[in-house]
Amino acid sequence: MKIHEYQARELLSQSGIPVPAGAVIQTADQAADAYALVTKAAATDLAVVKAQVFAGGRGKAGFVKLVRNADDATAAAEFMFNNRMVSNQTGPDGLAVSKLLVAAGVDIADRPAPRVPGGVTKEEYYLAITTDRNTRRNVMMASAEGGMDIETVAAENPSALIKTFIDPLTGLQPHQAREVAFRLGMHGKQINQAVKLMLNLAKLYESQDCTMAEINPLIITSPADGYPDGQVMAIDAKFQFDDNAVFRHKNQQEMHDPSEDNPLEVRAAEHDLNYIALDGNIGCLVNGAGLAMATMDIIKHAGGEPANFLDVGGSASEEAVTEAFRIILSDDAVKGIMVNIFGGIMDCAVIARGVVNAAREVGFTVPLVVRLEGTNVDAGRKILAEASADLPTLQAAADLADAAEKVVGAVKQPVG
Ligand code: GDP
Ligand code: MG
Repeated sequence: MKIHEYQARELLSQSGIPVPAGAVIQTADQAADAYALVTKAAATDLAVVKAQVFAGGRGKAGFVKLVRNADDATAAAEFMFNNRMVSNQTGPDGLAVSKLLVAAGVDIADRPAPRVPGGVTKEEYYLAITTDRNTRRNVMMASAEGGMDIETVAAENPSALIKTFIDPLTGLQPHQAREVAFRLGMHGKQINQAVKLMLNLAKLYESQDCTMAEINPLIITSPADGYPDGQVMAIDAKFQFDDNAVFRHKNQQEMHDPSEDNPLEVRAAEHDLNYIALDGNIGCLVNGAGLAMATMDIIKHAGGEPANFLDVGGSASEEAVTEAFRIILSDDAVKGIMVNIFGGIMDCAVIARGVVNAAREVGFTVPLVVRLEGTNVDAGRKILAEASADLPTLQAAADLADAAEKVVGAVKQPVG
């Protein structure tokens, strides 16, 4: 589960990590008040208006704007509410923006640019924790080249990314955090500020069952009264939580924003169907997660691309199966459907009735290939045969390989 930046900032702040003051708005006419509120709290005239969407790359897309007065804040808000955000992390259609964060802006200190003689850059760092499956540990990653180009840094100069593995029993140790702060080139009071921040982030990661906690950029402010070395702060954050642990975190359930979920996945969850939308054009309906994975593999082996993963489970009702077909059929990308059922606990007749219900209600205009085996298979086949008038695109398959070849062949034919 993902949360918005403004929620991530609240979590950081509750964990003792410095974050500039912020306010969330849902209409452009709230921007002026929000600007006044956050700039007054931080005693500055600089503020930043930021789209709250589940995708990064906002800065480059024009959806993070620095402003110095209420009129500019309003204009930035109008632009963001009235345009879809298209970045390298969204599809070409982009995302609609329904919430903005207006936050106090900070003055980021300058420093010499790495690998550019005489160049100047900003004190922007990357700091993240995620799980490393190879070492079965959480890993903290840090880089002095944070900001908007961290993906390029990771791809072209991986040595600029410092990795520190966290022992699951003892947690992140202060000496580890100190070493990272030194290697990032921090000095003076920044070291202790950064160490405290890293330890707090590691505790937060663990206590909230995160799968990802990212601060990019972590910044150092220009020297100011009380902070002669500048202050280490987070000005952008992303969190992802383990879906299987959300049940034990009331705060996460409250932060969940259903408007950002895939609507088909929400419908499927309401019927206890395990559905994940994918990029291909062959819809799959399968019972059992393992068989669903094998079905996707064999579709790929036959030269096709699955449009979804869908496991109806062992005890799905006729209604749930019918809903599963409605979900698959409502995806415009689907150009063919493969049903692969190996009835153990699942009764093939239930699947067959689900196919027929969906055919009568929505209609299969795309090719439908069905492979049924196992419990009550004869009754299932009979139900399908009797409804053949409602299933003009149905083809029966002898086995799994035959089903995959038939459906891949059918989606490649122009449908007339
Ligand atoms: P992202 O592009 O979606 O990751 O959005 P960020 O929140 O990381 O903002 C992108 C960039 O805008 C940052 O890397 C900073 O360079 C700049 N930025 C954001 N907030 C501030 C701020 O308060 N002050 C200054 N000077 N720059 C900021
Ligand atoms: Mg960022």
